[in-house]
Parts: sequence; C-alpha cells; structure tokens
Amino acid sequence: MDELKDGIADYVVDSFHTAQDKLLRQNTGSRIKTMHVSDLVSPCLRKSYYQRLYPMYEMTDDMRSILFHGTVVHEHSKLAPFHEITMCYDVTKDLAYPPEDVKQMDDKQREGIISGTVDDVVKYGDHYVICDKKTYNSKGYTKKEVDPSHALQVNIYNVLLTEAYNITAKYGCVLYLDKMKDLKELPMVFELDPLDDVKEFMRSAYSKLSDVRPPEGEICFLCNGKNKLGKIYCNYLDQCVKDGNRFDKK
Ligand code: SF4
Repeated sequence: MDELKDGIADYVVDSFHTAQDKLLRQNTGSRIKTMHVSDLVSPCLRKSYYQRLYPMYEMTDDMRSILFHGTVVHEHSKLAPFHEITMCYDVTKDLAYPPEDVKQMDDKQREGIISGTVDDVVKYGDHYVICDKKTYNSKGYTKKEVDPSHALQVNIYNVLLTEAYNITAKYGCVLYLDKMKDLKELPMVFELDPLDDVKEFMRSAYSKLSDVRPPEGEICFLCNGKNKLGKIYCNYLDQCVKDGNRFDKK
C-alpha cells in the first residue's frame, strides 16, 4: 500500500514539474536571439561569457522552482499599462529597433543588439519610474540597499527605454519580494545614472562578451564559497581556473 502511495506522490510531483517546465518554456521560447540585459549585469562578466559559449541546459529541481516562482510573480503583477515591454538597442550604432524587426534579422544583422524586457514603467507625479521585481530569501536579514547588479539592470533599461520610446526615467525602484515572508514587499528607490555613462558601460561589456578571449574572472559570492554551506554557485569554476586571469573582487 505504501508503495502505491509513493507511486501516486511521485506521479503528482512529476506532473507538477511538467507544468512548471511548460510555463518556463513558454517564457524562454519568446526570447529574442541577441545578447540580453541579464548577460551584462552578472557580478562576473566571465560567467556570462561562458554561459553564452557553453550553455547548460540541465535544469535541477531547485533551479526550476526558483525560476517558476519568479515567472508566476511577474505574470500576475502588472503595475502599469507599460508592463513587460521588450526593447532592442544596438550599442555599436546607438540605435533602437522594434523587436519584430530584430526577430527577422540574421545573426550578422543582430550583432551589437542588446534586448531586455522591462517589468513596469510607472508614472509618479511628473516622473517616470522603472520598476523591477525580484523575489529573494531574506533568511533573517533585512536588505539595506539595492543590489548593484539590480541597479545596473534598471539603468540599462533606462537606456533602452530612452532609445526605443523617448521616455527617460529619473528614478528606478527594485521591488524585493521576500519568499520567507509570503512575498512581503521591500521597495528600494534610487536615482538613475547619466545615460552616457550607462551606454559606455554597455559598449565595454558588449565588447568583452564578444571577444575571442574570456574577460577577467571576478571572484565573488558566486564562487568564493563564503556562505554557510561553502556552496559554489558558478558552474564554470573548472574552466575558469584553467583559463586563469582571475581577480578577487572583495
Ligand atoms: S568561477 Fe568565479 S570568476 Fe570564474 S566565471 Fe565563475 S563567477 Fe566568474
């Protein structure tokens, strides 16, 4: 009888995982084949470089669960009419393109283009504010400030928004949603950087990610093992050590 119950339990969990996979496939299926904003904002650019060169398709149950959670939250939290809008911008030509045009381009024509999907652009008084939602586990600590890579992501969206829609936001807001506390909200509002500075960063990051040699490895929380379980979050450690040219970000 226990065997039967175990079988039923496994079947139900497998079915749930299939439903999760289906939702995640729908989401990744619509991704445009260009470099993405997320490639530029990793704490270590070399990790993004490896990810593009050697994509890992293996999905662990933990990864599926994290991605599913985030996708569900994003699909059901529209903050403004300007919601989940995809934008494409060529860093080398300083030009924006409609995503429909980019989908028709060949690989050569897509070179230089970075695409990204902004969660929401809200209007507060006279100000446009770019909002990005992030689910996270507080694990007993309270965030004091916005994560630099999250702030950078919003700054890059501001470039795309300006070039594609002629709308420039002065402020960004990352809305952290704590999975340990039933998605309790923690908004972090910050002033956005000058567009030219962000564009310069984008050009530099794009060129490093397109080079034949990997960029420097920035040893950071992804691979320094400085966490309770001594876990390494980067799957490319062996390749990275082999390639050398790593520095400790501290
Ligand atoms: S192991 Fe560390 S330094 Fe190397 S690619 Fe991964 S995150 Fe970057």
